[in-house]
Parts: sequence; C-alpha cells; structure tokens
Amino acid sequence: MQEKDKQKILIADDERFNLNILVDILKSDYKVIVAKDGKQALERAMSNPPDLILLDIMMPEMDGYEACRNLKENEQTKDIPVIFITAMKEEGNEVKGFDLGAVDYITKPFQAAIVMARVKTQLKMKWQADMLRKMASIDGLTEIPNRQKFEEVFDREWRRAVRKKTPLSVLLMDIDFFKQYNDAYGHGRGDKCLKAVAQALAGTIRSPGDFVARYGGEEFIAVLPDTDISGAMTIAETIRSNVELLKISHAQPVPLDYVTISIGLSSVFPSGGFSDAALVSVLAAADEMLYKAKAAGRNQVQCR
Ligand code: GH3
Ligand code: MG
Ligand code: MG
Repeated sequence: MQEKDKQKILIADDERFNLNILVDILKSDYKVIVAKDGKQALERAMSNPPDLILLDIMMPEMDGYEACRNLKENEQTKDIPVIFITAMKEEGNEVKGFDLGAVDYITKPFQAAIVMARVKTQLKMKWQADMLRKMASIDGLTEIPNRQKFEEVFDREWRRAVRKKTPLSVLLMDIDFFKQYNDAYGHGRGDKCLKAVAQALAGTIRSPGDFVARYGGEEFIAVLPDTDISGAMTIAETIRSNVELLKISHAQPVPLDYVTISIGLSSVFPSGGFSDAALVSVLAAADEMLYKAKAAGRNQVQCR
C-alpha cells in the first residue's frame, strides 16, 4: 500500500512509554499521529482528521472521557471511531466509555496481536462507512456530486457567507436541445454526452470552495462562494465556452452544430435568515435567468 493511502490513527496517551509501544505496533501499517493529552488530541483531530483515535482515559489537562465527549459533539470529528486505552484495574468503567460513544477498549499491558486485530476491525468499518457516505453524495452516471450533496454545500456556504459578509453566486446550467440529442443518437450516447459535459464543468470549476453537482436530468448547478456577479459571470462564460469546445456533434444545428449549454446566474449578498428559504429564492432567480437564456437563443449566460 502506498504511504498516502494508509489510514491515519491518532494516539493520545500522557505516558511516553505506552505511546511508544503503540506507535511501534502500528507504525508499519498505518500513519500514526500522537498527542500527549486530551486537549492536544482534540486539536490534532480537528486540524488533521484521523480514521481512528486511541484515547488513554487517565490524562492531565483533559481526560479521555472528556476528550471523547468533545469529539462526539463536534460535527467534524463525531464520525471518527474512538477506542479507549485502559489499565486492567479500570475495567469497571467500560460502560461509561461505550455510553460516550467509544467503539472498543484496549487494555494495558498491550498485546500486539490484540491491538492490531481490534484496530484493523475498526478501520475496516470506518473505510466502509466513508465509502457509503461518499457513494451517497456522488451521481452514479456522471461521477460528480449529486443534488443532495449540493443542498448540503449550499447550506454550509450560505451560513459562511452570512458570517463573513461575502457574496455568493449560483449557476444553473442546462444542456440545449438535449431531447433532440437523445432522439437522434440514442440514450446510450446521450448518457456519454452527459458525462462528458459534467466532466468539463468539474474541470472548469476548480478553485477551492467552488462546487458543481448534477442537479437532475441534464441540469447542473454550481456554488461559487465569495464570488460577486462579475466574477461569476467570467466563470460562467468560461464554462459555457469549454462545453462548446468539446465539439460534441449535435443533430439540431441551432444554435451551433455542437452540444451547448445555457446558464442562469443568480448572485446574492446573504444577509441572514434560513438557508432553506434562501435556497428557494436563489434557485428561482437562477431558473428565471436560465429561462431567459433559453428564450434569447441558448448557448449563453444570463444574470441578475
Ligand atoms: P432545452 O434546450 O429547452 O433545455 O431543451 P431540452 O430538449 O434539453 O429540454 P427537455 O427538458 O425537453 O429535455 C431534457 C431531456 O434530457 C429529456 C430527457 O430524456 C433527457 N435526459 C434527462 N436525464 C437523462 C439521462 O440521464 N440520460 C439521457 N440520455 N438523457 C436524459
Ligand atoms: Mg435542456
Ligand atoms: Mg432541462
């Protein structure tokens, strides 16, 4: 396995001796990060999220229970499995750990084979859970994010824009005369075309924070945080032009001999309120602009 593919384990223990034993047991199969107390474990888990956390219970500053409670309350870290490290004599506390959301215990003194087996089981489940989460947010045909993921991203970006007082732009994009494309070339080639267009959009929207998804059918949607109307207009125009440059032949020779898209752009300065209501109004505005682009001849961007 390549170094970059290795799963990451964070180990928090205040006793250097214990820490070293665990690191030695695990370092050849996993990427290992260490912390010397609960507080540091929290900081490291936030800044560089691991796939599994081994938490000693008795630690200065913040003990393992407190650290676990914090991890489970935080959106960013709540899905990371926690295994408690405990001395034999503390066994009576196992229930408390499970109540706090831990998935297993490892007892001191460590037996390498047992540590490895328990860690391996949890990491396998974490990998499967991550895979499921990922699959649930990706559109099967085009392999770009789906509408559900878009709604999650919009909600997050709307809140961030309110907090930071920055503009937010949304692009609603729709393939022109796609029904005719399917009718002329068949559904199979229609699917291929959708995939090629989706990849062109994803390849154009590349700045960190910018996001594009398949909204449904032959419609796509992009979220451009911290982007005002003129910035968004430039990006939309690049997207439109990049689809045209794919030069996918189209049986309907209007507006071009190639597959093209129309784009409706809506740019707002979020000023609070619920993101659900904002989504409805931003989408309505983008949809209206998309309709205008279609009516004005397609293969163009319209904005408000
Ligand atoms: P307009 O320029 O006004 O957007 O016209 P249009 O023909 O693109 O729009 P319309 O909404 O009438 O047709 C959309 C077509 O997209 C109809 C539908 O069969 C096709 N479509 C939607 N999803 C898929 C898909 O997953 N695969 C394929 N091959 N076609 C799809
Ligand atoms: Mg269309
Ligand atoms: Mg459509």
